[in-house]
Amino acid sequence: MSLYPCPVHGEVALYPYASKQLSEQLNSPETSIVDVHEIKVEFFDGDELIQRSSFFFLKRELSELPTYLVIRNEQDEKDLLGNLLPKFKGGGCCPKCLNRLLVKDRA
Ligand SMILES: [Zn+2]
Repeated sequence: MSLYPCPVHGEVALYPYASKQLSEQLNSPETSIVDVHEIKVEFFDGDELIQRSSFFFLKRELSELPTYLVIRNEQDEKDLLGNLLPKFKGGGCCPKCLNRLLVKDRA
């Protein structure tokens, strides 16, 4: 698990599924929850759920906005995540800052 030096929260465990663009703009006052898109991704091995993750992006970096993806094999991974995974490269963020952004505008 990588540690991330958050300017607000100190050393935290990096949340890896935030795109580079989102991570860079997470604490910008111009970024709000309406700019963020969450995709819930479930990975199955046969019938068994092996991982469930939330992927976060800026809406403007996606051409489609699916909210839920199921990955059952390498082909799914290639077809459904092929365009998404590269966006995490160089990304990852503080989970507390991400959470703060996600709840900030909910009222
Ligand atoms: Zn933080």
